[in-house]
Amino acid sequence: MYKNIMDLHVHTDNSFDGNHSAMRMCESAQDSGLRAIAFTDHVEADFFREHKYDRVAAQSYFDISKARSAFCGRLLVCQGIELGQATYDLEVSEELYAKYKYDILVASLHNLRGGLDFSAPDYDEFDDDAIDAMLQEYFDELIILSGWDKLDTLAHMTYPLRYICGKYGKKVDMSRYAEKIDATLKNLADNEKALEINTSGLRQKIGKTMPDETIVKRFKELGGKYITIGSDSHYAEDIGKGIVEGMDIALRCGFDSVALFQRHEAIPIKIE
Ligand SMILES: [Zn+2]
Ligand SMILES: [Zn+2]
Repeated sequence: MYKNIMDLHVHTDNSFDGNHSAMRMCESAQDSGLRAIAFTDHVEADFFREHKYDRVAAQSYFDISKARSAFCGRLLVCQGIELGQATYDLEVSEELYAKYKYDILVASLHNLRGGLDFSAPDYDEFDDDAIDAMLQEYFDELIILSGWDKLDTLAHMTYPLRYICGKYGKKVDMSRYAEKIDATLKNLADNEKALEINTSGLRQKIGKTMPDETIVKRFKELGGKYITIGSDSHYAEDIGKGIVEGMDIALRCGFDSVALFQRHEAIPIKIE
């Protein structure tokens, strides 16, 4: 067992798909022996106005602040946000970044421009070319997103595979996207941004972290410096799940620390 277990991707009930309050999530984290957590409720930049995400962001920030004070000295609670599709509406994203004193901005990509969440389609209706076209566009968007200077860590890279390969059991030849994946990893490495190992896949049909070990290893080869690990829990009982496995992967890929974030500054915490 490792000394410092940190879960830097956790949702409260301020997320549309969250289930438990920040306080309850903190209790659970403390009971599981975690040292730190980051709350990262969903705000989708491309649906910001339409879905009134300004209210979500404000309520989430307030609830996290309360939990942070309540657990002071027992559990380090970081103020975070999972900002979806930041580069689809940079004005909204930059404004949000400036408005709140976040510790960590977790940048994710859940859909293509103007499209539905990757969880929505029935992939049995897609032939190989259609899946390839979708993934080519997905990896193109990740290159753009990973070049955005306000993100701290890139969340669940390869997210569409959770559904395409996990839920629908389809095979995807990842070598088709190798150059694009490299470009994204290089952006993160060059800008000293982190890559997240999202462990939610270990609890799902895909059975692997997002991204998997191959990509984490490639990140190291391309000069990657920081790794964050997050369970992406939407339930109190899932907090901290898979973090140890994530640390194992980080170690095997040559990282001797995982990053904690305080006011957007990466603090490497040794894996020991
Ligand atoms: Zn996400
Ligand atoms: Zn999430």
